[in-house]
Amino acid sequence: MKDSVPKAEIGLIGGSSTYSIDFPEAIGTGGVSVEARGLVYDTPFGPSPPFKLFSVEGRQVLACKMHGWRSGVSRAEASRQVFWVFREAGVRRVLAEGGVGAINHLLRPRDLVIPNDYIDFSMRKDTSLGEPYLLIMRGALCSEMRPVLYREADKVNGRRVFDRGVYVVTDGRHFESPAEINMFRLSGGDIVGQSLCPEVYLAREIGACYARLDMVVNYAEGVVKDWEHEELKEIFYNESVVIGRILLDTVRQLPSGAGCRCRELRKPTLLQEI
Ligand SMILES: [Zn+2]
Repeated sequence: MKDSVPKAEIGLIGGSSTYSIDFPEAIGTGGVSVEARGLVYDTPFGPSPPFKLFSVEGRQVLACKMHGWRSGVSRAEASRQVFWVFREAGVRRVLAEGGVGAINHLLRPRDLVIPNDYIDFSMRKDTSLGEPYLLIMRGALCSEMRPVLYREADKVNGRRVFDRGVYVVTDGRHFESPAEINMFRLSGGDIVGQSLCPEVYLAREIGACYARLDMVVNYAEGVVKDWEHEELKEIFYNESVVIGRILLDTVRQLPSGAGCRCRELRKPTLLQEI
C-alpha cells in the first residue's frame, strides 16, 4: 500500500476496450514512459484498484482499469476509490473509454461515439465523496476535451466517428431487455452502457473535466438484429490498440489551460447547517 498519491494532470479510466492489453506499453508510440505500476492506495472507501503512472511527452497520467472489478467491491465503491485518488493527485481532466450497445439504429458495431449528454437510469445516483457542492450537470461532457477526442478518433482510417450522442446509463451487470431498450430509444438515448455515471458526477465533484470515447460493441436488444457473442469477443480483443492510440494522441493534444466552463458548474451548497 502506497502512502502519498503522485501529482497527475490527467486521470484515465480504462474500460472494456483497452482491458485486454497492457496499456500504454502495448501501443508502442513514442514519448510515453511508464514511471510506476501497481500503485494501490488506502482510501476512506477501501483499498483502491491498482494504478499505473506514466507520462506522455511530459504530461503526467494516472490510469486504472475500471473494469478490473474486484469481487466484494461494488461499482459505486470502486468509483469512489478511483476519484478519491484522482482528487489527491490533483487531476484536472478525466478521460474514459468503454464499450456500449447501439440503441440508435443508424449506428453499427465498431463505430466510435463521443457522448455529449446522458440519461441516468442507474440506481446509484447518490454516489459522492461527501463534498458539500451543488453539482450542475449542464455541459457535463467537457466542451474542450470532446473536439480533441473527435479529431484524434477521426484520423483512424475507415472508422465512423460521431461527435455527439446521448449515453443511457444502466446498472448492469446483465444487459437490458428489448422493452427497456425501446423505452430508452423513445427517451432520446443513442447508446447504452454502465460507466458514464457515477464517473461524471464524481469528476464534477473534484472539479475535473470529463469526456469519454465509446466504441459500439453490439446492437442493443431489439435493434437491427440479434448481436453475436463471437463478434463482441472479436471487438473486445482486436480493437484495443486502436482505442489506446486515440487516447494517447488525445492526451498529447489536450490544451493545458481550461477553456471550458466545467469548473464553474460546481457551486457551494446552500444547504449548510447553521
Ligand atoms: Zn472542461
